Amino acid sequence: MDPVRDVLIIGGGIAGLSLASELAARRGSGAGIVLAEAEPQLSLHTSGRSAEQLIPSYGPAPVRELTGATVARLLDPRPAPSRPLAWPSRMVLVGSEARLRAEAAPGMRALSRAELVELCPELACSPADAVEAGRLDDTSVRTDAAALVAWHRDRAATAGARLLTGAPVTAAERDGDVWHVAAGVHRLRARQVVVAAGAWADEVAALFGAAPLGLRPLRRTAALVRLAKPLAPDHPMVVAADRGWYYRRAGDGALVSPSEAVPSAPCDAQPVLEDVEDLLARLNTVTSLGATGIERAWTGLRTETPDGVPACGPDPAVPGLVWLAGQSGYGFQTSAAMADAAADVLLDGTVGSWCSPETAAALDPGRFRAGSGAA
Ligand SMILES: Cc1cc2nc3c(=O)[nH]c(=O)nc-3n(C[C@H](O)[C@H](O)[C@H](O)COP(=O)(O)OP(=O)(O)OC[C@H]3O[C@@H](n4cnc5c(N)ncnc54)[C@H](O)[C@@H]3O)c2cc1C
Repeated sequence: MDPVRDVLIIGGGIAGLSLASELAARRGSGAGIVLAEAEPQLSLHTSGRSAEQLIPSYGPAPVRELTGATVARLLDPRPAPSRPLAWPSRMVLVGSEARLRAEAAPGMRALSRAELVELCPELACSPADAVEAGRLDDTSVRTDAAALVAWHRDRAATAGARLLTGAPVTAAERDGDVWHVAAGVHRLRARQVVVAAGAWADEVAALFGAAPLGLRPLRRTAALVRLAKPLAPDHPMVVAADRGWYYRRAGDGALVSPSEAVPSAPCDAQPVLEDVEDLLARLNTVTSLGATGIERAWTGLRTETPDGVPACGPDPAVPGLVWLAGQSGYGFQTSAAMADAAADVLLDGTVGSWCSPETAAALDPGRFRAGSGAA
């Protein structure tokens, strides 16, 4: 019979893997840690489908704090990876002045239209009322999602954590202070269970008797397209302030997204090609990119909590159950800090003082329960 572990993590996306890796590093051993991933490979769902950008000015205040902490860690990872996990890559928000004032975060640099066009010459042809000006985030970085996932996987596995694939969790019961969990052919036992199951987190937590947080999976598509002329290597990511589209350089072409947020059941989401074709038509009217063909398109589910801030902490009613869910469009940019917060909760019962009390409180899953005053 499988030994009783300290922690079972459900979900092998960036959230679950970052936590397995952080916990194993902190404890100096992964011996008491097991991760169960339903699919035959890690990071197959949303974590395999992102735009790989970490933007410290993007998202509500708690997300921005967690992003700043994550960027600092990923720019200086220990142990050093064989290829970089993150590197500087600017982002510029573009649109009308009114929209920019509403969307821009503190610390962004205001650009006039002339300055913007100097930075992004392909916007010279855009209608002046649609692209009046810009706001530049110099602190934004790119990540390599595959390299980051592999680094966490290796860091956890080398320390002795057990990473199971093809292990869907389908049933759980509690005996004393130990959870007994069916995960494919495995019968696992653990004192604490972390639900890091992305779009499926509410469903998985229900197996443990927890009430749902009200998570909403939302489809978002991205595609690699060809361009008439390649963008410069230091070209910033360009994001419409009305969140209607974004693009960034990808080799000789570009990664583009219509930024849609269409409610979906938890599933293996697939792209709707018309969405990408419509986007190319729109981009080719506001830019001179000359986006001509779709090389590859993919869709993932960004899963939001009701207030848009991720949830990390103990379930208020079910002992031994911890949430790590609702990362929305911020799952990579908050990954290291969210793993830190979850590790703090598992080891010390509360998020540590590296995080502001406001952000620690904002993450509490208990805020969605009746009587919390925040639901
Ligand atoms: C198009 C797009 C672009 C994005 N761009 C960015 C970006 O630039 N920057 C950024 O920070 N974020 C971005 N995101 C968001 C980011 O990708 C997500 O926030 C992040 O991947 C969520 O990670 P996760 O581990 O929570 O979920 P997932 O990667 O979905 O992992 C959850 C895992 O749980 C597993 N699971 C489910 N049920 C069970 C079960 N019963 N038993 C065992 N395992 C189970 C699933 O198989 C899955 O592998 C983007 C998302 C999309 C779709």
